[in-house]
Amino acid sequence: MTDSAPTPVHPTDGEDEDYGLETPLSGHPEPLPHVVVVGGGFAGMATVRALKDAPVRITLIDRRVYNTFQPLLYQVATGGLNPGDVTYFLRGLRLHQKNVHVIHEHLVEADHEAKKIRLLNDHWVSYDYLVVTAGVTTNFFGTPGAKEYAFPMYSRSQALRIRDNLFIRLEKAAKSKRLDDGLRVVVVGGGATGVEVAGALAELRTAGLEPAYPEIHGDAFEVKVVQRGGEILKSFAPKLRTYATKELARRGVSLHLGAGVAAVEPSAVVLTDGKRIHADLTVWSAGVHPHDEVADWGLPQDDGGRIKIGDDMQVEGLPGVFAAGDIAISPSDLPQLAQPAIQGGLVVGKNIRALLEGRPLHKLRYVDKGTMAVIGRRAAIAEINLPGGKPLRITKGSAWLVWLFVHIMSLVGPRNRVTTLAGLATRYGFPFHRRPIPIVGDVPTVRPPKAHHPGRG
Ligand SMILES: Cc1cc2nc3c(=O)[nH]c(=O)nc-3n(C[C@H](O)[C@H](O)[C@H](O)COP(=O)(O)OP(=O)(O)OC[C@H]3O[C@@H](n4cnc5c(N)ncnc54)[C@H](O)[C@@H]3O)c2cc1C
Repeated sequence: MTDSAPTPVHPTDGEDEDYGLETPLSGHPEPLPHVVVVGGGFAGMATVRALKDAPVRITLIDRRVYNTFQPLLYQVATGGLNPGDVTYFLRGLRLHQKNVHVIHEHLVEADHEAKKIRLLNDHWVSYDYLVVTAGVTTNFFGTPGAKEYAFPMYSRSQALRIRDNLFIRLEKAAKSKRLDDGLRVVVVGGGATGVEVAGALAELRTAGLEPAYPEIHGDAFEVKVVQRGGEILKSFAPKLRTYATKELARRGVSLHLGAGVAAVEPSAVVLTDGKRIHADLTVWSAGVHPHDEVADWGLPQDDGGRIKIGDDMQVEGLPGVFAAGDIAISPSDLPQLAQPAIQGGLVVGKNIRALLEGRPLHKLRYVDKGTMAVIGRRAAIAEINLPGGKPLRITKGSAWLVWLFVHIMSLVGPRNRVTTLAGLATRYGFPFHRRPIPIVGDVPTVRPPKAHHPGRG
């Protein structure tokens, strides 16, 4: 195209875009009510599925083309799973659900009086019911240098960046003549995610990398967890925390407790007590907050920026507009985890059906099934809430098996279940495969410098 070629203009630029399915389902002569769901994560997918066969047309808008199973992202970051194992092509939903239309776009602003939202491509989309399930993002808490030098792990591309950097740094250390050159990883945050990353890194080191990198001195690959509070895993029972702490120590993970991170530098983490820890790679798993742009969506937010909803999942003061998952806060203030997002999304779907049929709305009655975290090969902790009884607290191999079963069953799509089971069984599973070869990251190709080849012009 030359400079003078006219810029292509979309015929509906700036106007309402018909993204929904206009063809009514059989037996519905009127155009069907339009449900717009923004965000195809746990909550958005649950809403869409709850509206399967409902007399509505659904438009699912996500800025990514896939759904991400975040609870296993750290396995991608540490070479245990492939990225495709934990992501699901959102347009794949259409294969089983014809009333959904998926578009790859980004919500920018909303006009709730006119019942419209604007996307980044400047198209306005009208809705009868709006469901906001756009999740949250990494919170660096304004820590100097954290955004520049620490690696967050909220998306598939971020997990891959961690994996690539692990291998780039290991190769660099292997080429170095200095004995103490190695890989010092600092994990910021001692919650379940931080512990799982640290455990997986320790697993990677002992099971796969030590034999693969004889050039690197054993002590030169360190894993440290920094936690502001005095204990890791504070949402778990003391017995489980103690077990996890011991298991991490046994696997050579050291804990720095009781001081937060004051600054992150290119090769160090500076703590609030003045201590400086050498860090070749800093992984940030310390907190989340809603995206700043939520402020432009015309929705009431609490002090932390989450969208205020009632127990019926409707946004305060906006009937017919719903929010669910990590981005929303209800009077019961549920944790920002997968189960509240899934159960909230299901109630949104039920309540849209109830509004269509003029029935009273359901309230979310959250069923807390429990929590778990894996530390490594046959070592995990799990707190399972049995109906009507005391929570069952288990550790070791039995907790690991429960963890494996729950995660495999929660994945979207049968292929992801099979490939993830194979990946995790390879990493953790069987005595005949105690030294699994990790899935290697991308390290820049070694090439000769570009030279001029006269023959090639
Ligand atoms: C590393 C990690 C590990 C975790 N481990 C666990 C665990 O072990 N157990 C557990 O229960 N929970 C875990 N969680 C938390 C859990 O993943 C979240 O609670 C859950 O994903 C929330 O679901 P959601 O639907 O609200 O948001 P998400 O699943 O984050 O989905 C939000 C979607 O909205 C899209 N989006 C965002 N902004 C826009 C926009 N402007 N326009 C269009 N689309 C947009 C995003 O692309 C995304 O697909 C973990 C989280 C992380 C990051």
